[in-house]
Amino acid sequence: MAIQKLLIANRGEIALRIHRACHEMGIKTVAVHSTADADAMHVRLADEAVCIGPPPAKDSYLNIANIISAAEITHADAVHPGYGFLSENAQFAEIVESHNLIWVGPKPEHIRIMGDKVEAKRTAAKLGLPLVPGSPGPLSSFSEAKAIAAEIGYPVLIKAASGGGGRGMKVVPSEDQLESLMGQASSEAKAAFGDATVYMEKYLGDPRHIEYQVFGDGKGAAVHIGERDCSIQRRHQKVIEEAPSPVISPDQRAEMGGIVAKAMADMGYRGAGTIEFLYENGEFYFIEMNTRLQVEHPVTEMISGIDLVREQIRVAQGDGLGVKQEDIRLHGHAIECRINAEDPQTFAPSPGVVKNYVAPGGMHVRVDSGLYAGYRVPPYYDSMIGKLIVYGTNRENCIRRLKRALEEFVVDGMKTTVPLHQQIIETDAFKSGDYTIKWLESWLAEKE
Ligand code: ADP
Repeated sequence: MAIQKLLIANRGEIALRIHRACHEMGIKTVAVHSTADADAMHVRLADEAVCIGPPPAKDSYLNIANIISAAEITHADAVHPGYGFLSENAQFAEIVESHNLIWVGPKPEHIRIMGDKVEAKRTAAKLGLPLVPGSPGPLSSFSEAKAIAAEIGYPVLIKAASGGGGRGMKVVPSEDQLESLMGQASSEAKAAFGDATVYMEKYLGDPRHIEYQVFGDGKGAAVHIGERDCSIQRRHQKVIEEAPSPVISPDQRAEMGGIVAKAMADMGYRGAGTIEFLYENGEFYFIEMNTRLQVEHPVTEMISGIDLVREQIRVAQGDGLGVKQEDIRLHGHAIECRINAEDPQTFAPSPGVVKNYVAPGGMHVRVDSGLYAGYRVPPYYDSMIGKLIVYGTNRENCIRRLKRALEEFVVDGMKTTVPLHQQIIETDAFKSGDYTIKWLESWLAEKE
Protein backbone atom coordinates (compact mmCIF):
# COMPACT_ATOMS: atom_id res chain seq x y z
CA MET A 1 0.00 0.00 0.00
CA ALA A 2 1.43 3.38 -0.97
CA ILE A 3 2.13 5.53 2.08
CA GLN A 4 0.26 8.85 2.00
CA LYS A 5 1.22 10.37 5.31
CA LEU A 6 4.18 9.39 7.48
CA LEU A 7 4.76 10.18 11.14
CA ILE A 8 8.39 10.92 12.02
CA ALA A 9 8.99 9.57 15.53
CA ASN A 10 12.25 11.42 16.07
CA ARG A 11 13.86 14.86 16.28
CA GLY A 12 16.88 16.82 15.05
CA GLU A 13 18.72 16.28 11.81
CA ILE A 14 17.34 12.79 11.21
CA ALA A 15 13.75 13.99 11.47
CA LEU A 16 14.56 16.58 8.81
CA ARG A 17 16.33 13.95 6.70
CA ILE A 18 13.21 11.74 6.75
CA HIS A 19 10.93 14.69 6.00
CA ARG A 20 13.01 15.51 2.93
CA ALA A 21 12.80 11.99 1.52
CA CYS A 22 9.03 11.95 2.11
CA HIS A 23 8.38 15.23 0.35
CA GLU A 24 10.46 14.13 -2.61
CA MET A 25 8.23 11.05 -2.81
CA GLY A 26 5.01 13.05 -2.48
CA ILE A 27 4.34 11.75 1.03
CA LYS A 28 2.92 14.13 3.66
CA THR A 29 4.71 14.31 7.00
CA VAL A 30 3.66 14.55 10.63
CA ALA A 31 6.27 15.81 13.11
CA VAL A 32 5.90 14.87 16.75
CA HIS A 33 7.89 16.94 19.19
CA SER A 34 8.50 17.73 22.83
CA THR A 35 7.76 21.21 24.16
CA ALA A 36 11.52 21.90 23.92
CA ASP A 37 11.46 21.27 20.16
CA ALA A 38 8.43 23.33 19.13
CA ASP A 39 10.71 25.61 17.06
CA ALA A 40 12.68 22.84 15.37
CA MET A 41 13.22 23.10 11.64
CA HIS A 42 11.50 19.80 10.80
CA VAL A 43 8.50 20.80 12.91
CA ARG A 44 8.18 23.96 10.83
CA LEU A 45 8.55 22.10 7.54
CA ALA A 46 6.26 19.14 8.31
CA ASP A 47 2.70 19.25 7.01
CA GLU A 48 1.37 18.71 10.54
CA ALA A 49 2.91 18.79 13.99
CA VAL A 50 1.76 17.31 17.28
CA CYS A 51 3.29 18.03 20.68
CA ILE A 52 3.78 14.73 22.50
CA GLY A 53 5.08 15.85 25.87
CA PRO A 54 7.60 17.70 28.00
CA PRO A 55 11.36 17.82 27.29
CA PRO A 56 12.55 14.59 28.97
CA ALA A 57 12.68 11.93 26.23
CA LYS A 58 10.94 9.35 28.42
CA ASP A 59 7.87 11.60 28.50
CA SER A 60 7.90 12.53 24.80
CA TYR A 61 10.11 10.77 22.22
CA LEU A 62 9.85 7.51 24.17
CA ASN A 63 6.17 7.94 25.01
CA ILE A 64 4.60 5.22 22.89
CA ALA A 65 0.98 6.01 23.81
CA ASN A 66 1.32 9.65 22.82
CA ILE A 67 3.08 8.84 19.55
CA ILE A 68 0.40 6.32 18.57
CA SER A 69 -2.32 8.84 19.50
CA ALA A 70 -0.62 11.46 17.32
CA ALA A 71 -0.64 9.01 14.41
CA GLU A 72 -4.35 8.28 14.92
CA ILE A 73 -5.40 11.93 15.26
CA THR A 74 -3.52 12.95 12.11
CA HIS A 75 -4.54 9.81 10.14
CA ALA A 76 -0.93 8.99 9.41
CA ASP A 77 -0.49 5.59 7.79
CA ALA A 78 3.18 4.94 8.54
CA VAL A 79 5.79 5.55 11.24
CA HIS A 80 9.53 6.08 10.68
CA PRO A 81 11.52 5.82 13.91
CA GLY A 82 14.87 7.30 12.72
CA TYR A 83 17.78 6.20 14.94
CA GLY A 84 18.01 6.10 18.73
CA PHE A 85 14.82 6.59 20.80
CA LEU A 86 12.32 3.84 19.80
CA SER A 87 14.04 2.74 16.60
CA GLU A 88 15.24 -0.59 18.01
CA ASN A 89 12.31 -1.23 20.32
CA ALA A 90 10.63 -4.39 19.02
CA GLN A 91 7.58 -3.82 21.17
CA PHE A 92 7.05 -0.37 19.67
CA ALA A 93 7.32 -1.88 16.18
CA GLU A 94 4.65 -4.45 17.15
CA ILE A 95 2.36 -1.79 18.60
CA VAL A 96 2.71 0.31 15.45
CA GLU A 97 1.82 -2.68 13.28
CA SER A 98 -1.08 -3.71 15.53
CA HIS A 99 -2.59 -0.26 14.95
CA ASN A 100 -2.59 -0.93 11.22
CA LEU A 101 0.23 1.50 10.65
CA ILE A 102 3.15 0.69 8.36
CA TRP A 103 6.36 0.32 10.36
CA VAL A 104 9.26 1.67 8.33
CA GLY A 105 11.71 -0.77 9.78
CA PRO A 106 12.64 -4.43 10.09
CA LYS A 107 10.36 -7.20 11.28
CA PRO A 108 9.89 -6.93 15.07
CA GLU A 109 11.32 -10.43 15.62
CA HIS A 110 14.58 -9.41 13.92
CA ILE A 111 14.81 -6.22 15.99
CA ARG A 112 14.38 -8.39 19.09
CA ILE A 113 17.03 -10.94 18.13
CA MET A 114 19.63 -8.34 17.21
CA GLY A 115 18.86 -6.20 20.27
CA ASP A 116 20.06 -9.04 22.48
CA LYS A 117 23.74 -9.18 21.63
CA VAL A 118 24.14 -12.76 22.80
CA GLU A 119 21.24 -13.88 20.63
CA ALA A 120 22.62 -11.72 17.80
CA LYS A 121 25.96 -13.48 17.91
CA ARG A 122 24.30 -16.90 17.93
CA THR A 123 22.23 -15.91 14.90
CA ALA A 124 25.24 -14.40 13.13
CA ALA A 125 27.21 -17.61 13.67
CA LYS A 126 24.35 -19.68 12.21
CA LEU A 127 24.25 -17.37 9.20
CA GLY A 128 27.95 -17.91 8.59
CA LEU A 129 29.38 -14.60 9.83
CA PRO A 130 32.80 -14.73 11.51
CA LEU A 131 32.66 -13.89 15.24
CA VAL A 132 35.07 -12.48 17.81
CA PRO A 133 36.12 -15.50 19.89
CA GLY A 134 34.26 -15.52 23.21
CA SER A 135 31.61 -17.10 25.37
CA PRO A 136 29.02 -19.09 23.41
CA GLY A 137 26.24 -17.41 25.43
CA PRO A 138 25.67 -15.39 28.59
CA LEU A 139 28.18 -15.92 31.40
CA SER A 140 26.45 -17.90 34.11
CA SER A 141 29.23 -18.21 36.67
CA PHE A 142 32.71 -17.02 37.52
CA SER A 143 34.16 -20.50 37.02
CA GLU A 144 32.69 -20.64 33.51
CA ALA A 145 34.10 -17.17 32.73
CA LYS A 146 37.51 -18.20 34.06
CA ALA A 147 37.62 -21.28 31.86
CA ILE A 148 36.60 -19.38 28.71
CA ALA A 149 39.05 -16.55 29.37
CA ALA A 150 41.88 -19.03 29.88
CA GLU A 151 41.03 -20.58 26.54
CA ILE A 152 40.76 -17.40 24.45
CA GLY A 153 43.55 -15.58 26.33
CA TYR A 154 43.68 -12.22 28.12
CA PRO A 155 42.82 -9.39 27.78
CA VAL A 156 39.10 -10.16 27.51
CA LEU A 157 36.13 -7.84 27.31
CA ILE A 158 32.97 -8.22 29.40
CA LYS A 159 29.98 -6.79 27.51
CA ALA A 160 26.35 -6.21 28.43
CA ALA A 161 23.89 -8.30 26.40
CA SER A 162 21.50 -5.32 26.26
CA GLY A 163 24.28 -2.74 25.90
CA GLY A 164 24.46 0.08 23.42
CA GLY A 165 26.17 3.37 22.68
CA GLY A 166 29.51 1.96 23.77
CA ARG A 167 28.36 1.61 27.36
CA GLY A 168 28.58 -1.36 29.70
CA MET A 169 31.97 -2.75 28.64
CA LYS A 170 34.88 -3.74 30.88
CA VAL A 171 38.34 -4.75 29.71
CA VAL A 172 39.82 -7.44 31.93
CA PRO A 173 43.62 -7.53 31.69
CA SER A 174 44.23 -10.66 33.79
CA GLU A 175 42.55 -13.41 35.75
CA ASP A 176 42.99 -11.80 39.19
CA GLN A 177 40.63 -8.99 38.14
CA LEU A 178 38.07 -11.12 36.33
CA GLU A 179 35.69 -11.74 39.22
CA SER A 180 35.46 -8.12 40.40
CA LEU A 181 35.18 -6.62 36.88
CA MET A 182 32.58 -9.18 35.89
CA GLY A 183 30.53 -8.20 38.94
CA GLN A 184 30.90 -4.51 38.16
CA ALA A 185 29.94 -4.96 34.52
CA SER A 186 26.89 -6.93 35.49
CA SER A 187 25.62 -4.46 38.10
CA GLU A 188 26.30 -1.50 35.76
CA ALA A 189 24.40 -3.29 32.99
CA LYS A 190 21.49 -3.90 35.36
CA ALA A 191 21.43 -0.20 36.34
CA ALA A 192 21.78 1.14 32.78
CA PHE A 193 19.74 -1.36 30.73
CA GLY A 194 17.65 -3.22 33.32
CA ASP A 195 19.38 -6.47 32.33
CA ALA A 196 22.38 -7.83 34.22
CA THR A 197 23.25 -10.39 31.51
CA VAL A 198 26.89 -10.18 30.39
CA TYR A 199 29.01 -12.14 27.94
CA MET A 200 32.68 -12.34 27.07
CA GLU A 201 34.72 -11.53 24.00
CA LYS A 202 38.40 -11.55 23.25
CA TYR A 203 39.58 -7.96 23.53
CA LEU A 204 41.10 -7.12 20.19
CA GLY A 205 44.18 -4.95 20.65
CA ASP A 206 44.06 -2.54 17.76
CA PRO A 207 41.24 -3.17 15.29
CA ARG A 208 39.36 -0.96 12.88
CA HIS A 209 35.57 -0.64 13.02
CA ILE A 210 34.17 -1.56 9.62
CA GLU A 211 30.45 -1.97 8.99
CA TYR A 212 28.36 -3.08 6.03
CA GLN A 213 25.17 -1.41 4.86
CA VAL A 214 22.60 -4.05 4.00
CA PHE A 215 19.05 -3.98 2.69
CA GLY A 216 16.49 -6.74 2.48
CA ASP A 217 13.01 -6.94 0.98
CA GLY A 218 11.74 -9.22 3.76
CA LYS A 219 11.01 -11.97 1.25
CA GLY A 220 14.42 -13.45 0.74
CA ALA A 221 16.17 -10.90 -1.47
CA ALA A 222 18.97 -8.76 -0.03
CA VAL A 223 21.84 -6.56 -1.18
CA HIS A 224 24.86 -4.89 0.38
CA ILE A 225 25.92 -1.33 -0.42
CA GLY A 226 29.54 -1.62 0.62
CA GLU A 227 31.22 -0.74 3.87
CA ARG A 228 31.88 2.30 6.03
CA ASP A 229 34.96 2.78 8.17
CA CYS A 230 34.03 4.24 11.57
CA SER A 231 37.33 3.79 13.38
CA ILE A 232 37.71 7.45 14.37
CA GLN A 233 36.05 7.09 17.78
CA ARG A 234 36.13 8.65 21.20
CA ARG A 235 34.77 6.60 24.10
CA HIS A 236 33.44 4.03 21.62
CA GLN A 237 31.42 6.79 19.91
CA LYS A 238 31.98 7.54 16.24
CA VAL A 239 33.37 11.00 15.37
CA ILE A 240 34.26 10.72 11.66
CA GLU A 241 33.08 8.05 9.22
CA GLU A 242 34.10 7.33 5.66
CA ALA A 243 33.18 5.13 2.73
CA PRO A 244 34.80 3.15 1.34
CA SER A 245 37.26 2.03 4.02
CA PRO A 246 40.82 3.02 3.07
CA VAL A 247 42.02 -0.52 3.85
CA ILE A 248 39.50 -2.78 2.12
CA SER A 249 40.31 -3.98 -1.39
CA PRO A 250 37.58 -4.37 -4.03
CA ASP A 251 37.92 -8.16 -3.79
CA GLN A 252 37.55 -8.17 -0.01
CA ARG A 253 34.58 -5.79 -0.26
CA ALA A 254 32.81 -8.06 -2.70
CA GLU A 255 33.66 -11.20 -0.73
CA MET A 256 32.45 -9.97 2.68
CA GLY A 257 29.58 -8.11 1.00
CA GLY A 258 28.44 -11.35 -0.58
CA ILE A 259 28.54 -13.08 2.81
CA VAL A 260 26.49 -10.40 4.60
CA ALA A 261 23.97 -10.06 1.78
CA LYS A 262 23.43 -13.83 1.73
CA ALA A 263 23.03 -13.83 5.52
CA MET A 264 20.31 -11.17 5.25
CA ALA A 265 18.60 -12.99 2.40
CA ASP A 266 18.58 -16.26 4.38
CA MET A 267 17.17 -14.46 7.38
CA GLY A 268 14.41 -12.80 5.36
CA TYR A 269 15.55 -9.45 6.69
CA ARG A 270 13.42 -6.44 5.76
CA GLY A 271 14.62 -2.87 5.32
CA ALA A 272 17.91 -1.18 6.19
CA GLY A 273 20.46 -2.69 8.52
CA THR A 274 24.10 -2.42 9.43
CA ILE A 275 26.38 -5.31 10.23
CA GLU A 276 29.26 -4.15 12.39
CA PHE A 277 32.64 -5.82 12.41
CA LEU A 278 35.97 -5.26 14.02
CA TYR A 279 38.75 -5.74 11.49
CA GLU A 280 42.26 -6.76 12.49
CA ASN A 281 45.12 -8.38 10.57
CA GLY A 282 42.97 -8.77 7.49
CA GLU A 283 40.13 -10.59 9.32
CA PHE A 284 36.55 -9.52 10.03
CA TYR A 285 34.90 -10.23 13.40
CA PHE A 286 31.15 -9.62 13.79
CA ILE A 287 30.27 -7.54 16.88
CA GLU A 288 26.64 -6.53 16.38
CA MET A 289 23.88 -5.68 13.95
CA ASN A 290 21.89 -2.44 14.04
CA THR A 291 18.36 -2.87 12.77
CA ARG A 292 17.83 0.75 11.72
CA LEU A 293 19.24 3.63 9.73
CA GLN A 294 22.64 4.77 11.04
CA VAL A 295 23.81 8.32 11.74
CA GLU A 296 26.56 7.77 9.15
CA HIS A 297 24.28 6.49 6.35
CA PRO A 298 24.93 9.54 4.11
CA VAL A 299 28.49 8.48 3.26
CA THR A 300 27.01 5.37 1.65
CA GLU A 301 24.43 7.51 -0.16
CA MET A 302 27.18 9.75 -1.53
CA ILE A 303 29.20 6.93 -3.09
CA SER A 304 26.24 4.85 -4.27
CA GLY A 305 23.73 7.51 -5.32
CA ILE A 306 21.03 5.55 -3.47
CA ASP A 307 18.68 7.43 -1.14
CA LEU A 308 18.51 5.01 1.78
CA VAL A 309 15.42 6.56 3.38
CA ARG A 310 13.55 6.34 0.07
CA GLU A 311 14.64 2.70 -0.15
CA GLN A 312 13.36 2.08 3.41
CA ILE A 313 10.00 3.58 2.50
CA ARG A 314 9.82 1.58 -0.74
CA VAL A 315 10.42 -1.69 1.09
CA ALA A 316 8.01 -0.78 3.91
CA GLN A 317 5.15 -0.12 1.49
CA GLY A 318 5.79 -3.38 -0.30
CA ASP A 319 7.46 -2.15 -3.49
CA GLY A 320 10.51 -4.33 -2.91
CA LEU A 321 14.12 -3.32 -3.39
CA GLY A 322 14.71 -0.59 -5.94
CA VAL A 323 18.18 -1.89 -6.75
CA LYS A 324 19.76 -5.18 -7.70
CA GLN A 325 23.23 -6.08 -6.48
CA GLU A 326 24.68 -5.99 -9.98
CA ASP A 327 23.34 -2.45 -10.51
CA ILE A 328 24.96 -1.06 -7.35
CA ARG A 329 28.12 0.79 -8.30
CA LEU A 330 30.26 2.58 -5.76
CA HIS A 331 32.14 5.64 -6.97
CA GLY A 332 34.69 7.90 -5.32
CA HIS A 333 34.94 8.64 -1.64
CA ALA A 334 32.81 10.28 1.06
CA ILE A 335 33.60 11.45 4.60
CA GLU A 336 31.23 12.57 7.34
CA CYS A 337 32.10 14.76 10.34
CA ARG A 338 29.68 14.73 13.26
CA ILE A 339 29.39 18.31 14.46
CA ASN A 340 28.56 18.50 18.16
CA ALA A 341 27.69 21.50 20.33
CA GLU A 342 30.64 20.76 22.58
CA ASP A 343 33.89 22.33 23.61
CA PRO A 344 36.37 20.90 21.07
CA GLN A 345 38.97 20.40 23.80
CA THR A 346 37.09 19.30 26.90
CA PHE A 347 33.98 17.91 25.14
CA ALA A 348 31.78 19.69 27.70
CA PRO A 349 28.29 20.21 26.20
CA SER A 350 27.73 23.75 24.95
CA PRO A 351 24.06 24.23 24.13
CA GLY A 352 22.76 27.75 23.49
CA VAL A 353 21.20 30.08 20.96
CA VAL A 354 22.57 30.14 17.41
CA LYS A 355 23.39 33.78 16.69
CA ASN A 356 24.60 33.30 13.17
CA TYR A 357 24.66 30.19 11.02
CA VAL A 358 26.35 29.67 7.68
CA ALA A 359 26.48 26.14 6.34
CA PRO A 360 29.19 25.30 3.82
CA GLY A 361 28.10 24.69 0.26
CA GLY A 362 29.46 24.12 -3.20
CA MET A 363 29.90 21.02 -5.26
CA HIS A 364 29.53 17.66 -3.45
CA VAL A 365 29.03 19.23 -0.02
CA ARG A 366 26.04 18.14 2.05
CA VAL A 367 25.00 19.40 5.47
CA ASP A 368 22.31 17.50 7.36
CA SER A 369 21.31 19.82 10.18
CA GLY A 370 18.24 21.51 11.61
CA LEU A 371 20.17 24.60 12.68
CA TYR A 372 19.18 28.13 11.72
CA ALA A 373 19.99 31.59 13.09
CA GLY A 374 17.92 32.23 16.20
CA TYR A 375 17.44 28.52 16.98
CA ARG A 376 18.00 27.50 20.58
CA VAL A 377 19.80 24.15 20.90
CA PRO A 378 17.94 22.43 23.75
CA PRO A 379 20.11 20.96 26.52
CA TYR A 380 18.01 17.81 26.94
CA TYR A 381 19.20 15.67 24.06
CA ASP A 382 22.25 14.46 22.19
CA SER A 383 24.83 17.17 21.51
CA MET A 384 25.05 16.45 17.75
CA ILE A 385 23.78 19.54 15.90
CA GLY A 386 24.60 18.50 12.39
CA LYS A 387 26.63 16.41 10.02
CA LEU A 388 28.92 17.57 7.25
CA ILE A 389 29.26 15.06 4.45
CA VAL A 390 31.62 15.62 1.56
CA TYR A 391 32.25 13.66 -1.62
CA GLY A 392 35.38 13.49 -3.78
CA THR A 393 36.39 11.42 -6.79
CA ASN A 394 39.04 9.86 -4.53
CA ARG A 395 40.02 10.07 -0.87
CA GLU A 396 42.61 12.78 -1.37
CA ASN A 397 40.19 15.05 -3.22
CA CYS A 398 37.56 14.33 -0.62
CA ILE A 399 39.85 15.43 2.23
CA ARG A 400 40.78 18.60 0.31
CA ARG A 401 37.12 19.47 -0.14
CA LEU A 402 36.35 18.61 3.48
CA LYS A 403 39.05 21.02 4.62
CA ARG A 404 37.55 23.77 2.48
CA ALA A 405 34.02 23.04 3.71
CA LEU A 406 35.04 23.06 7.38
CA GLU A 407 36.61 26.51 6.82
CA GLU A 408 33.22 27.81 5.70
CA PHE A 409 31.23 26.43 8.65
CA VAL A 410 29.96 29.22 10.93
CA VAL A 411 27.94 28.49 14.06
CA ASP A 412 28.05 31.57 16.32
CA GLY A 413 26.70 31.39 19.84
CA MET A 414 28.15 28.10 21.04
CA LYS A 415 31.26 25.99 20.93
CA THR A 416 31.30 23.24 18.32
CA THR A 417 33.63 20.41 17.35
CA VAL A 418 34.41 22.00 13.95
CA PRO A 419 37.95 22.98 15.10
CA LEU A 420 38.56 19.41 16.28
CA HIS A 421 37.66 18.05 12.85
CA GLN A 422 39.97 20.60 11.22
CA GLN A 423 42.85 19.31 13.31
CA ILE A 424 42.08 15.63 12.86
CA ILE A 425 42.03 15.81 9.07
CA GLU A 426 45.47 17.45 9.06
CA THR A 427 47.16 14.57 10.88
CA ASP A 428 49.38 12.09 9.06
CA ALA A 429 47.34 9.22 10.50
CA PHE A 430 44.12 10.53 9.03
CA LYS A 431 45.64 11.58 5.71
CA SER A 432 47.23 8.18 5.20
CA GLY A 433 44.12 6.31 6.39
CA ASP A 434 46.38 4.41 8.76
CA TYR A 435 44.35 4.58 11.97
CA THR A 436 42.48 2.22 14.28
CA ILE A 437 39.76 2.61 16.93
CA LYS A 438 42.50 3.52 19.45
CA TRP A 439 44.01 6.31 17.41
CA LEU A 440 41.81 9.33 18.21
CA GLU A 441 42.01 8.88 21.97
CA SER A 442 45.77 8.46 21.98
CA TRP A 443 46.18 11.49 19.72
CA LEU A 444 43.91 13.55 22.02
CA ALA A 445 45.94 12.43 25.06
CA GLU A 446 49.20 13.46 23.39
CA LYS A 447 47.78 16.84 22.42
CA GLU A 448 47.03 17.74 26.06
P1 ADP B 1 27.65 -0.69 21.38
O1 ADP B 1 26.38 -1.38 20.98
O2 ADP B 1 27.66 -0.28 22.82
O3 ADP B 1 28.05 0.38 20.43
P2 ADP B 1 29.59 -2.51 20.15
O4 ADP B 1 29.61 -3.97 20.39
O5 ADP B 1 29.07 -2.03 18.83
O6 ADP B 1 28.79 -1.81 21.36
O7 ADP B 1 31.04 -1.92 20.34
C1 ADP B 1 31.31 -0.54 20.32
C2 ADP B 1 32.79 -0.28 20.19
O8 ADP B 1 33.51 -0.90 21.27
C3 ADP B 1 33.43 -0.84 18.94
O9 ADP B 1 33.30 0.03 17.82
C4 ADP B 1 34.87 -0.98 19.39
O10 ADP B 1 35.48 0.30 19.40
C5 ADP B 1 34.75 -1.43 20.83
N1 ADP B 1 34.74 -2.91 20.96
C6 ADP B 1 33.64 -3.71 20.98
N2 ADP B 1 33.99 -5.02 21.07
C7 ADP B 1 35.35 -5.07 21.13
C8 ADP B 1 36.32 -6.13 21.22
N3 ADP B 1 35.97 -7.42 21.30
N4 ADP B 1 37.64 -5.80 21.25
C9 ADP B 1 38.02 -4.49 21.20
N5 ADP B 1 37.15 -3.44 21.10
C10 ADP B 1 35.83 -3.71 21.06
